[in-house]
Amino acid sequence: MSELSGIDIKFLAGVGPKKASILKQELKINSYEDLLYVFPYKYIDRTRFYKISEVKATMPYVQIVGRITALDEFGEKRSKRLVAYFTDGDDELELVWFKGINFVKPSLKPDTDYVVFGKPSMFNRKINIVHPELEEETKRKKRLEFNLQAFYLTSEKMKSSFLNSKAISKLQENVFMSLNGKIPETLPKYILEKLQLINLHDALVNIHFPKDTDILKKAQYRLKFEELFYVQLNILRMKQKRKIQYKGHVFSRIGEYFNGFYHNELPFQLTNAQKKVIREIRNDLGSGRQMNRLLQGDVGSGKTLVGLMCMLIALDNNAQACLMAPTEILATQHLETIQEFMQNMNVRIELLTGSTKKRDRDRIHSDLESGDLQIIIGTHALIEDKVKFKNLGLVIIDEQHRFGVAQRAKLWKKNQLPPHVLVMTATPIPRTLAMTLYGDLEVSVIDELPPGRKPIHTVHYYDNKRLAIYDFMHKQIKLGRQIYMVYPMISESEKMDYKNLEEGFENVNNYFDRFGIRISMVHGKMKADEKDMQMQNFASGKTQILVATTVIEVGVNVPNASVMVIESTERFGLSQLHQLRGRVGRGAEQSYCILMSSHKISNESRKRIETMVRTNDGFEIAEEDLKLRGPGDIEGTQQSGLSYDLKIANLGKDGELLQFARNIAAKILEQDELLSSEKNFILAKQLKRIQKAKINWSVIS
Ligand code: ADP
Ligand code: MG
Repeated sequence: MSELSGIDIKFLAGVGPKKASILKQELKINSYEDLLYVFPYKYIDRTRFYKISEVKATMPYVQIVGRITALDEFGEKRSKRLVAYFTDGDDELELVWFKGINFVKPSLKPDTDYVVFGKPSMFNRKINIVHPELEEETKRKKRLEFNLQAFYLTSEKMKSSFLNSKAISKLQENVFMSLNGKIPETLPKYILEKLQLINLHDALVNIHFPKDTDILKKAQYRLKFEELFYVQLNILRMKQKRKIQYKGHVFSRIGEYFNGFYHNELPFQLTNAQKKVIREIRNDLGSGRQMNRLLQGDVGSGKTLVGLMCMLIALDNNAQACLMAPTEILATQHLETIQEFMQNMNVRIELLTGSTKKRDRDRIHSDLESGDLQIIIGTHALIEDKVKFKNLGLVIIDEQHRFGVAQRAKLWKKNQLPPHVLVMTATPIPRTLAMTLYGDLEVSVIDELPPGRKPIHTVHYYDNKRLAIYDFMHKQIKLGRQIYMVYPMISESEKMDYKNLEEGFENVNNYFDRFGIRISMVHGKMKADEKDMQMQNFASGKTQILVATTVIEVGVNVPNASVMVIESTERFGLSQLHQLRGRVGRGAEQSYCILMSSHKISNESRKRIETMVRTNDGFEIAEEDLKLRGPGDIEGTQQSGLSYDLKIANLGKDGELLQFARNIAAKILEQDELLSSEKNFILAKQLKRIQKAKINWSVIS
């Protein structure tokens, strides 16, 4: 394959400099190889030929053999239309062109058998085919044989330079014509044999020019497997290397801080899942290698407490710990939660955010450097170069999808011996995605909620039921509960949202004011202190309803709030809805999530709403999200820095194959860690190529 990757696409027959630059711009095709790896998005059966009498306007495509009997032109200039009368010997239909007439017309020959291919439509109660593909029957028989025609995605820009799907297909053919010999294999022979995969050359020929669906499936399987296999081989290799390279703090002592807290302070029993995860983390911390662990757990599963207990292990070993959250509200809430847990313990904990006053900031900076300050909780402010530690041993990053790779890397570098890193996320990531995005991190899962929680009752209502819902809210408030009402995010370009939120606030206020019910409002465009005040009023129970945008999406913890009303549900993504719902159900009361929407919603929105109503399980929701949206859209994949540009495999659909490929890769590395054996030579070589191409594939936390 390496030869083909070295040949500039402009040298390919039918390309030339102008088309080459368009291919580069639009599809990132630089070489012959790049072109071969642009795969079709669909295939159409070309084995079937129709008689004109059988053709209906509803058919997606038809293929007819026949001759052109006459040509006609109608109209002037821009409205000009070329019509060819086409017969199969028995019946006639019209072939029509509106564009490229000057080019098409002279090429149409009489007394020649043509194969016509295109989408039939109805015009003036007659069937016609607009802009058909036409090919002389004799030529068709000469070219590369295939029965399924491949279709390629092309842009408007490509089409206007004559690079439509058919042209791309022709170029693919030209690549194969230019070869002398076969395309070199990229998987070792023993893998091909063991898994009964077809060779690369045949796979590529048949992905573009399949003779039948059987061989097409084999080609797709081989290429998908290879793609996923190398992704996994690369990840597992990286993980292995890092284990060897990065020595970590050895936290061998479980001492006063941890034990004192565990035995004297912990107000409840840990769940089994929490215990299991703490054990896993303790093993890592004592292993001598730097920990890089992802802690997944549904909202409310008690991750913060796990984080705190790990920090205490760091303290027991004379190291400092920091906890970084994506927003000031969250960081503050973490501080409060942790301070409450720690009220009887002698530990210095402080908050550092963008709005920390200079005097406090200076003091915090110097106390971190001297080691007097043991736990620091904060936002991005923790990353600043000025923040130095005496001995930073553990970094915990909460709700990690909001942080970029570069930011995490900066924290990493704050200590000579890199700190252990625990990334906590409440956005459950489907297994397949986790395996590719975080495949080089160890993963812990808290798959159990603290006891006594009642599942949240979720219902869907259309907007016209608003009064009934207000009434329900009122009853809940009379029972002493509090309520969130969430509107879509306010952003600069969306004046509408603001209007919705303001109007919503007015409506709610008008309705509830007479009952003496108080309402807070927060949104992203508010000043921080105003926002904090409103939040505080709600948290302390001064107000009973919080009208908000999605700023409350992550982390906010008001256990007395038991109703979540979401407005314009159709405008939220699934994982966002799940996060929002997670704001209730934190106390012992039965909680409710009410999804409001208009009557006009898309099928996809409807599916999202149905999923929410059906299940409370974050992992099930994440899998559904992946199916509905595809991996590229899942929150966090862009920022994660590990965006695998998969060309053929689909993380939403090929989960099993991914797991299979990962197992194979793991087994190979188990036997040949450095891939240095003769039979794995190809693997080592391919891996190097991949790593060169993906600069991004570095350490991710
Ligand atoms: P998460 O961060 O995973 O969403 P939190 O750590 O905020 O969850 O925990 C949610 C609530 O559950 C908090 O009020 C916390 O004190 C409480 N909690 C945590 N662990 C337990 C437990 N084992 N038993 C009872 N309550 C718990
Ligand atoms: Mg949390």
